[in-house]
Amino acid sequence: MGVAINSGPAIGTPRIDLLEAFHNRVGVLRLDAVHPVVSGNKWYKLQGHLALRAGREKVVTFGGAYSNHIVATAAACAALGIRAIGIIRGERPAQLSPTLADATGYGMELHFISRADYREKKLPPDFNHHPDGYLLIPEGGYGAAGATGIEAMATQLPLAYYTHILCCVGTGTTLAGLLNAALPHQRVLGISSQKNNFQLEPATRVLLQDRQTPVRILHDYHFGGYAKYNELLLAFMNDWYRRTGIPSDRVYTGKMFFAFDQLWHQGFFPPDSTVLLVHSGGLQGNRSLPAHALAF
Ligand SMILES: *Cc1c(COP(=O)(O)O)cnc(C)c1O
Repeated sequence: MGVAINSGPAIGTPRIDLLEAFHNRVGVLRLDAVHPVVSGNKWYKLQGHLALRAGREKVVTFGGAYSNHIVATAAACAALGIRAIGIIRGERPAQLSPTLADATGYGMELHFISRADYREKKLPPDFNHHPDGYLLIPEGGYGAAGATGIEAMATQLPLAYYTHILCCVGTGTTLAGLLNAALPHQRVLGISSQKNNFQLEPATRVLLQDRQTPVRILHDYHFGGYAKYNELLLAFMNDWYRRTGIPSDRVYTGKMFFAFDQLWHQGFFPPDSTVLLVHSGGLQGNRSLPAHALAF
């Protein structure tokens, strides 16, 4: 239909790396390693959303210039051969960010809207004529459908060894999916990358199958707020890479690994704990950093 579509990515079962630096009692679920550009957690959330498209051939969603969700949506729609439309925050730049260039490479159409319109998630006028013709996926892949996609991925993996599961929190969808998949002996803990966003607990809770399940999110590891970072965080990410061989991103996973490392050394985890760290990807976003900032 005139839309150039790359063949979509082939994404297999993610692997778990055991960390010798932590006596093999800590594993990293490598959702980052399933594809060079598509963030694992976004891919699995999208599988849940796209399963509900009920014959609709167009997908519309939202994001910024370095959005992991935008490029993952572009790739997931390319894999299915359906149209993807990205509503992008801000003016169209003279040169597209690498993320948006990748998204258009997967055939996504981009519409730029002002930051004010974006805040209200206003669709360009022509979209409102055919509201039933497309599947609207919330920013970041938030929602119960997204949580179902994460749950389906997690329940296929051998996770019973772990007593604790840690993940990053953006919208809370990944955390909700992991909570829905967790076994009775497992505690799931989210690390927020936003400053004092205490709406995340209720936003996560509404996605749970059992709303009595406690939602635990730590709010002390944001490094100044969403997408904020400093030299300490970058130095930690380089150090973590040297100790474990695991690369991380500065928005989500770097902060989560930092939190884990600190909690581990503070004795937060009882003796004999086994911890799974969910690496949700996001490495493509490191392209917004100056060259040489990272050792990987
Ligand atoms: C989007 C994203 C998250 C946040 O996931 P939620 O399900 O929205 O909480 C975490 N890590 C990475 C790398 C992401 O891109």
